Amino acid sequence: MKRILITGAAGFIGSHLSDRFIKEGYSVIGMDNLLTGSLTNIEHLFKLKEFDFYHHDVSKFVHVPGHLDYILHFASPASPFDYLNMPIQTLKVGSLGTHNLLGLAKEKKARLLIASTSEVYGDPLEHPQKETYWGNVNPIGPRGVYDEAKRFQEAITMAYHTYHGLETRIVRIFNTYGPRMRVNDGRVLPAFFSQAIRGEGLTVFGDGEQTRSFCYVDDLVEGIYRLLLSDYAQPVNIGNPAEMTIMEFAKEILSLVGNPKAHIDYRPLPVDDPKQRRPDITLAREILGWEPKVDREEGLARTHEYFKTVVKPG
Ligand code: UDP
Repeated sequence: MKRILITGAAGFIGSHLSDRFIKEGYSVIGMDNLLTGSLTNIEHLFKLKEFDFYHHDVSKFVHVPGHLDYILHFASPASPFDYLNMPIQTLKVGSLGTHNLLGLAKEKKARLLIASTSEVYGDPLEHPQKETYWGNVNPIGPRGVYDEAKRFQEAITMAYHTYHGLETRIVRIFNTYGPRMRVNDGRVLPAFFSQAIRGEGLTVFGDGEQTRSFCYVDDLVEGIYRLLLSDYAQPVNIGNPAEMTIMEFAKEILSLVGNPKAHIDYRPLPVDDPKQRRPDITLAREILGWEPKVDREEGLARTHEYFKTVVKPG
């Protein structure tokens, strides 16, 4: 039986990955320090003999007994709100945590896939963003702690690949959504759904003309699964190219939830908020034969069902 370590397993994406690898017949070790993750996301896995959980911070030395075939490094605060509040932990998990997992992968002769991000492109001057774009990042701005940790993570991962011959994979994840996102993580989708369900103002930052492209979590997981099993060691964008403005997104959620008390509430635009973001997924199409399958209407409907179970209507 193949054995895989997933860090950040109690988080939004980590928990969906844990489900997928269990379904594929793997033995899964979930690791999380529960800083931003929640055991509720993986509660259903604890009864399975194929699942084990280690409560551990990967920024400290990581020990896992027995063999490992694969490691997925998904531990990190991942919303702008979280990494503003936890800047040091964010820097450490991307740098020290990645170094520890590279060491573990080398020791176990395991393949390591790291979760990188569209944030490596910063506030992009190239649009849409291809993997060849080097980005436009402010290292000392509020997002710098995440962006630079992830850029360092890519650099050290490539160094282990070229210097030690370690098998590595790098996925650059664009905005992703779906069930199990934390209600108060500050990201636009949990914010808008919970505000709409409670009948409050939807906090649109700036004029709402900035764009994002949202990918449903099942599509992302499929892309990661294919990338892990591929032989491609360079970074690959995984995201949905369907781009929209934040104002359009707010209006879609208002009409989906249909709470007459909900409305638009303008707030200041955070510092260094990227003005536009859309993945170029030509590479993922060519190398992985992958493209998103779940359109926004279906993805938002499934996500709405989830938020109805965790937010009390107002
Ligand atoms: N945003 C917003 N209202 C919110 C939260 C976010 O208008 O309550 C905007 C934010 O300014 C950004 C976009 O939505 O332009 C996506 O923000 P998010 O925090 O989800 O992630 P980002 O893509 O910026 O990393």
